[in-house]
Amino acid sequence: MERPLLFGLHPDDISHVVRSLGGTAQHVRQLCRYLYRSGVSEFDQMADIPKWLRAELLARYQLGLAVPKSFSQSADATVKYLFAIEGKGDVEAAYMPGAKRNTLCVSTQVGCRMGCSFCMTGTIGFKGNPSASHILNQLRSIPQRSLVNRLVLMGMGEPLDNWDEVKLALSILTSNMGFAFGAANITLSTVGLHGALADFLSNPPCNLAISLHSPFPDERFGIMPIERSNPIAQTIAAIKQNPLPKPLRVSFEYVALGGVNTTPSHAKALGELLSGLRTHINIIPWNQHENAAYSTPTADELQSFIGALNRSGVIASVRESRGKDIAAACGQMAGRGR
Ligand code: SAH
Ligand code: SF4
Repeated sequence: MERPLLFGLHPDDISHVVRSLGGTAQHVRQLCRYLYRSGVSEFDQMADIPKWLRAELLARYQLGLAVPKSFSQSADATVKYLFAIEGKGDVEAAYMPGAKRNTLCVSTQVGCRMGCSFCMTGTIGFKGNPSASHILNQLRSIPQRSLVNRLVLMGMGEPLDNWDEVKLALSILTSNMGFAFGAANITLSTVGLHGALADFLSNPPCNLAISLHSPFPDERFGIMPIERSNPIAQTIAAIKQNPLPKPLRVSFEYVALGGVNTTPSHAKALGELLSGLRTHINIIPWNQHENAAYSTPTADELQSFIGALNRSGVIASVRESRGKDIAAACGQMAGRGR
């Protein structure tokens, strides 16, 4: 039988492992630091953990770290990494350096079963669920690991459709003995799966971004089949009933599909839908890919839509996607490198 992975265990469980092998609280802290705060990639490099304990660990566990199998760099400095998830395919992570913020976008599933009509990942279907270890390895095993100060769960897959593993990954990320990442610097993006969303809202581990894309149920169903079983109206009602505690925030994402969902009536209906929420909409102009026949809105179309949204009381900004030339932008990821 394969030895289980150490990387991806919660610090409380690491403590259990180390203590049961006869290690001390100090050893637990050292091991957690090696796993979640350093660049060490072998048991042998964990110099201040005694040899006997390293040998006991090695006999029972694999470290569980895996370097990316390839990467590509965009003209805008975005770097896309491809990671193999054994037996399931590949996932992608995109590192986007900025003036103050260095953002890493990670994947939470291999493929996706939500089938949104405008999304490349949606058109390739579902191939499998990465473990918490696989999700966190996308941060731990890139060269820029210590520069990342903002994490978004917006790569391939629907995070709430792999909620157990995503929840564990978030708890290791925000734990002091884990990555010690600030919860307010992490954002989970979701279409709003009500069961897992209720659990998320009962004890929010990070910011929430809801993929809205249309205020009209029929139209939303046409582009996002999940609208039928998980209507956006109920998603918003749940968020109104369980607001996120400060400093965490809820925002909405809105893929602008040229000539489809940017009319004045959309802006008016969005104002009504979001009234009473302190929030804003991030508009993402549709990123082109070969598996869908939408068009990217013109600059004029976007400007008038934003004007109409503002008149309806909605704060909106445009989020230009990065890494388009290497297919690393929102909704272009297919786990095929390039
Ligand atoms: N499954 C989650 C998170 C991953 S997708 C979700 O859907 O929210 C992250 C964001 O990229 C979502 O808002 C999604 O709607 C958007 N997106 C998908 N395909 C896109 C495309 N081709 N152009 C622009 N944004 C896209
Ligand atoms: Fe899945 Fe999100 Fe793409 Fe929809 S937009 S298919 S939920 S990854």
